[in-house]
This record gives sequence, C-alpha cells and structure tokens, in this order.
Amino acid sequence: MKSSEIRSKFLEFFESKSHDIVQSAPMVLKNDPTLMFVNSGMAPFKEYFLGNGTPKNTRLTDTQKCLRVSGKHNDLEEVGYDTYHHTLFEMLGNWSFGDYFKTEAIAWAWELLTEVFNIDKDILYVTVFEGSDDADNLKMDTEAYDIWKQYISEDRILKGNKKDNFWEMGDQGPCGPCSEIHVDIRSAEEKTKVDGKSLVNMDHPQVVEIWNLVFMQYNRKANGSLEVLPNKHIDTGMGFERLCMVLQNVTSNYDTDVFTPIIREIETITNTDYGKDEKIDIAIRVISDHVRAVAFSIADGQLPSNTGAGYVIRRILRRAVRYGFTFLDKKEPFIYRLVSILSARMGDAFPEIKSQKQLIENVIKEEETSFLRTLDQGLVLLDRMIEGESSKEISGAKVFELKDTYGFPEDLTDLILRERGFTYSKKEFAKKLQEQKDRGKEASASQSDDWVVIKEDAEEEFVGYDTLETQVSLTRYRKVTSKKDGEQYQLVFNMTPFYAEGGGQVGDKGYLEQPNGDVIYILDTKKENNLIIHFAKNLPKNLDATMKAVVDVKQRYRTECNHTATHLLHQGLREILGTHVEQKGSSVHSKYLRFDFSHFSKVTDEQLRDVEDFVNARIAGRLPLQENRSVPMEQAIEEGAMALFGEKYGDAVRTIRFGQSIELCGGTHVANTADIWHFKIKGEGAVAAGVRRIEAITNDAVKDYFAENDKAYADIKSLLNNAKEPTAAIEKIQLENADLKKQVEQLLKDKAKNIKGDLKAEVSQINGVNFLTKELDLDANSLKDLAFELGGEIDNLFILFGSNNDGKALLTCYIDKKLVAEKSLNAGTIVRELGKHIQGGGGGQPFFATAGGKNPDGIAKALEEVKAYL
Ligand code: ATP
Ligand code: MG
Repeated sequence: MKSSEIRSKFLEFFESKSHDIVQSAPMVLKNDPTLMFVNSGMAPFKEYFLGNGTPKNTRLTDTQKCLRVSGKHNDLEEVGYDTYHHTLFEMLGNWSFGDYFKTEAIAWAWELLTEVFNIDKDILYVTVFEGSDDADNLKMDTEAYDIWKQYISEDRILKGNKKDNFWEMGDQGPCGPCSEIHVDIRSAEEKTKVDGKSLVNMDHPQVVEIWNLVFMQYNRKANGSLEVLPNKHIDTGMGFERLCMVLQNVTSNYDTDVFTPIIREIETITNTDYGKDEKIDIAIRVISDHVRAVAFSIADGQLPSNTGAGYVIRRILRRAVRYGFTFLDKKEPFIYRLVSILSARMGDAFPEIKSQKQLIENVIKEEETSFLRTLDQGLVLLDRMIEGESSKEISGAKVFELKDTYGFPEDLTDLILRERGFTYSKKEFAKKLQEQKDRGKEASASQSDDWVVIKEDAEEEFVGYDTLETQVSLTRYRKVTSKKDGEQYQLVFNMTPFYAEGGGQVGDKGYLEQPNGDVIYILDTKKENNLIIHFAKNLPKNLDATMKAVVDVKQRYRTECNHTATHLLHQGLREILGTHVEQKGSSVHSKYLRFDFSHFSKVTDEQLRDVEDFVNARIAGRLPLQENRSVPMEQAIEEGAMALFGEKYGDAVRTIRFGQSIELCGGTHVANTADIWHFKIKGEGAVAAGVRRIEAITNDAVKDYFAENDKAYADIKSLLNNAKEPTAAIEKIQLENADLKKQVEQLLKDKAKNIKGDLKAEVSQINGVNFLTKELDLDANSLKDLAFELGGEIDNLFILFGSNNDGKALLTCYIDKKLVAEKSLNAGTIVRELGKHIQGGGGGQPFFATAGGKNPDGIAKALEEVKAYL
C-alpha cells in the first residue's frame, strides 16, 4: 500500500466514526511561548484539554507535522543512526475532547490495525501503565488492561513504568497514563531465538512502538503536583513513517516510499550507493531526514536565523551539510535540489510545500553556500592552528573558539585532527561549552508559579476593537520571576480592552485604575493558550474589586496607523512587483512597521517610490475600515482574502477590508485610511535568500522624519555659508579635495626621493647582505615605491621599514630576489613573525611583504630583531 493511501485510509476510518478531518497545524505555533515547535499531535489542541476553549466537533482526526529537536522530546542525535526516529515526522491522530474514552479508543485502534490494515495480531504487543509509588502515587490502569483483554491474549499485554506509560508533553500541562502498541517485525527465525516480549521498549530497531493511546485525565502543575482534569480526553499518536514500514513489509522507515525517492536522488547527485557502507548510509539518512524538517519549517514561516527557533533550523541544516561534506564528499550546495522531489511527493497532503517550493530552494541553497564557506575558512584556520603547534595536543579552548567564533563544528575538527595525528582536550572543550550554556541559561531562566484562580470564568472577552477603556475584574493571576524582568505579575480579567501581541502587532500598554484611585501600569499584553495576559509590576490591593482598565491611546493609535499601512503596503507590493509577493512576517510597532515578503531581487528605488505612491493614494482616498469579525475560513478565502498558512483548525477568522485590500487579520486598525496622514518607506533590504524587508513609518513619525531632514538640510546649508545651491557647493568642495589629495601624494613622492639619497648612506653590510632598517614617516605606497627604487640601485639589498601612520603601525620588508633564492629568506614569514611586536599580522610574497598592527611602540623592537634573520 502506498504511503499516500495509508494516510487517507487512516483519516477516512476515523471520519467514518464521526470525526472531522482537519489540516495539520503549522509547526511553529502562535501564542504558545512554552513550546518552540509542535512536538506531538496534541500540542495544537492543548487549550481544549485545559478547558480554555471548545472545538467545533468533540471528535477530530488529523496528521500533524511534528518536530522533535529541542526541549523534552529531542531525537536529533538518534537521527541517521537508527532507522525509525526522525526529526520531522507525521503523527496520525484521533481526538476526543470530553467525548469517548478508553473503550472506544482501544476498540477502534484495534479494528483499524487488524481489520483495515490487516496487520497480523501475532506481531502486536500492547502496554498498560503499572502505576507508580513515587510522589504522584498513581494506581495501575486496570481499566485499560481489562479492555485490551477482550482483543489480545494476556501474555501480549505488558505492564510499563512511568517513563514509557505515562505521557507528558512538557514540565507542565495535560498528561495521563497511556497504552502503546508495538510491532515485532523480525524474521521468524529471529523470533524463535529471542522472545519478542523481552524486546519491547528496549530500543530494538525491529521491535518498535507505532501507536500511543494517551488517556488524558490530569494536569501537571508548576509545583509538580497533579490535578484531575474536569473532562477526560483521548489523544492518540501513530508514527506515520513507522506504520508505512510495517505495511510495506520493510524493516526501516528509510526503505518506505516516503524516503526512497529522496534517497535515490541523493545517490544520483552524490554518486554513491545506499546500503553498502554504514558511514555513507548514515549520511544519506541524515540528509534525507533533515531536508524534510528544514523545508517544512521554511514553508511554515520559520526561516533559519541566529536565534531561537530559527537557530534550531539552521543547526539541523548544518548537520546535514556536514554529513554531506564529510562522508559524501560534497563540497558544493546540493541539498536544495531535493526540494523538488519533496514537493512532488508531499505537495498533495501539504500544499504549503508546493506553493513555496521556489522560496524553500533559495533559502536552503543560500544557507548551504554560506555554511560551506564557513567550513572552508575553518579548514584554513585549523591548518594555521596545527602549523603553530609544537605538541601533538591542541587545546580544547582553541577548538571551542573555532566552533563558537567561526561556526566550525567540533566533530569535524576532531576528524581532521585525528587524520593528521593530532588530538585535543575534550574535557576542556566540554568545560567551555558548559560555561557558555550556563551563561545562556542564567540569562533566560524564568520561573512561573501556578495560577491563582479568583473567579472561574468561561472565557475572557476581548472588547478592545470597540473601546479602549472599560470596567474589569480579575479572574486569575500568577507570579513570574525572571532574570530579565525581575518579579512580575500576570493578570487575567473577565474582559479586556487590551490587545495581546499577535499577528505581528505589539501588545497594548496602559494602566488599571483601582477604586481608591491608585494606578497599576500594564507593561505589555500577550496571549498564551487562549488567555490574554497582562504584565504588571504589582497586584491590585483588593483582588475582588472592579477597576477601570485603560489602554494607552496614543501608542494604540500609532500602532493602528502602522498596521493599516502594512495591509496597504502588502497590496501595493503585489500590484507593483507581482503576485508572487507573499507576506513572510511583519512587525507592527507604534514607531515603525516592518514587512517581510518573498521577492527575488532588490526592489529598485523607482519601484519603492511607486509603492509609496500607491499607499499614499489609498490614504488620500479616505477608505473606511470594513471589518467582519467572524467568518468561516472558506468564505473569507472566497471573498478574496489571502490564505495564510499559519492558521490552525478552529481559528475564527476576521477579515479586514480597506478598498480592494482584504486580509485575514486579528489586529486593530484605523477607522479610515486618512487617519494615517502619510506613509514613508525608510529602508529596503534582504533578510534571507528570496525574502526582502521593508521598513516604513506613518503619521507622527513621518512628521518627525521630515522635520529632522529639514533641520539637517538647514545645518548643511549653514555649514556651506548659506550657499544658494548646496549641491553645487558640495560638488565644488569634492573637486577641490580630490585636487589637494593629488598634490599631497606628489609632495610625499618628492619627499621620498630626497630621503632616498640619505638612506643610501645608511646601508650597512651583514654577512654579505646590504642591510637597511629605518623608521620613516611615510605612507604605505611611498614606502613601497621607495623600497623598490632602492632595490633597483643596490644589489643584494634587504630592507625593513617601520612607519607610524596615525597610530597604525606598518612594517615593510623588501628582499632582493637573489637573496630570497640563495639564503632562503622570506619577507612574508619575516613580517608575520615580527608582526607580534606591533600586535598585528600580515603577509605577502617572499621578496616583498607588509604587516599592519595597532602598536607603533613595538616598531623599534621589530627593527632591532630583524638582524637575527641574517
Ligand atoms: P520512541 O520511544 O520510539 O521514541 P515515543 O515514546 O517518544 O517513541 P510518543 O511520544 O508516544 O513516542 O509518540 C507517538 C508515536 O509517534 C510513537 O508511537 C511513534 O510511532 C511516533 N514517533 C515518536 N517519535 C518519533 C520520531 N522521532 N520519529 C518518527 N516517529 C516517531
Ligand atoms: Mg521518543
């Protein structure tokens, strides 16, 4: 059975049991600061388990893109070495939110595997939770055991401990006991030798877990205790690639049709054969896996970068490049060439990969190119390190520096050093690495207490589209302590006019006015699991009181001008550059806006002017805001709103229209485009391959900008003695300046000529060499000319000049070519070695070289020591 058919059969099976089929959520979730990437099927549904929201249907089924490369679930280091863990994989799931529980979940799982997919019962094992006698003190899951007994013989039901049979997403959040289903796909002969039972959960590559049925019944709180959830839920997750392995009768995920087309392509590009040499096989598996993770992340809007989630993606890609570089001998970019296959094979189930193929290829290619450059530079640095080393052991600190400063990976350093008979101190390296990690941890550590619930309230209402001020009461709060912000309180109200950071727009600031007139400032507003959280330095005195919540009007208004302008800018870019322009990110502040979009070349000044004019025409056109607060996604798209990947199931969409511009948007906007007053682009540049960024300002900021420019212009004019035509005046000064430069150069040359006569008298003889050292007050070019002129007149000449140009030290060494050959002298080596006195370095050719440095005081020492070479 083909993988695409396996995927549909799963979804259709649960559809037949009254589940709605929903699309995979993006791998990077909005509004969930606790999770960098979706690492399991349940992550996008977390708020439903916690009771902070309700789905349209209490039964859903999906295949969810998961990435396990950070945090509690991190399989990165396994990937490539084993045959059944991936970074990115699909998790097939069926979901019950307070609907059915263990009986149906188990019955349907069994029916699907044994009757629809016809898996032989005799290769299946199941596990149930045995209970725990630790602080949680949980009982064995006899309920699940008794249900399983109806389907499978008891000797195939195994009891498992907390590590395997109690599922937790992270340190906090919903959790519960689980039952796993394992397959034993070893040969009959193997099976007679070792009992399958003894291999379950023992990391055997052919006795693996395929499905986990989680019975959500608890919430793990910040203090570590468990609380019973108000409703019981089902969360199941089946590894799609592992299921394909079983149904396609192979023993490795990489031998299924999910991976073989990619592997064939790698073989062709790199001229290798999969299945002959373990090292090469690992590299091929790593690359075929990682290209999927990276491509899907980019499609979901997470570009490789230097921080956070972007950095994780960059590291995954670099891991793939490294394996290609080291084991497949690929020194030029090639991973991007695999995207075509991926898009062709997976584009139907995940259209985002197809529609953004070009962008994904560009980004990967550029990342590959730049990392390969790093590797090349690293190799040169490594060579130098080895050259200067007298012992056979390199310090771990140096290897760390190579990694930290130059991005050159440790394992590659290790390999190269070993090849050349060197070692390095791994202990010292590990120490340096740990120190760096500790520094990072300290800086970002934060600790949040449990919520203190004042009033149970179904859902916090956001009223900030209509009003900036309203009476509110506190429903819950918690204290959060972090190094960065110190102690802060997070407050949640029954309703709020404060907009929470989202859709690129910053969160509102403002204040709370208590009944006695005291004021508490709201420093920021963010959303987490559907709660709108207000950040404050202190708590209200009376927690039950009703108080006035007031949004900072000025900041909000400026932000709205920028947000509306962002929509008009988006429309303008598509109009002027073409419809390939897609939003790749935006950030809307009160002072400026930033808009990232796909486009493959620099936007010309003329195009930028056209875009500016386009937006300003719409501002002048006084277009009113037309808002529709709750439209089904399909309808919004029909009306012409751009479909954005990044929405997940259940998101109520809101459409914002200004004239012909229609967008799905939850942000706040001006009532009429005329409010924006004026729009001005301040900069355009590249963020990544194929992604450009525009920064722009509106309203007050434009006024300030023009005022500043006016002032700068007036200042310039006054510097030019109020010249009527400042541009002409500056051009005149530039011409004069060029002329003066020429004159100075000529004067210096003349001076050098005069010096030449004096210097000839100073030449001395050492071991048959005509030797001259001198500190001179001349620039580099004059010194060079002088050295060659002297060399033309005096045979066997060796010169070392020192000079100090405005605090920059320079050594210039000239050696007659004959001397170079006969005495094997090398000016390059000499200046490099003497460079240490002036705290610098340099190089050149054997007969002429220079070194620059920052310590002119060392020149005398260098001139003194050079004699030693003769
Ligand atoms: P394992 O012990 O094999 O790592 P797990 O206990 O981490 O699995 P769960 O967290 O229960 O797995 O995830 C549910 C299912 O997802 C698993 O039964 C498995 O089929 C699949 N799965 C988990 N991790 C991976 C991975 N890294 N690559 C591919 N499939 C995976
Ligand atoms: Mg695991």
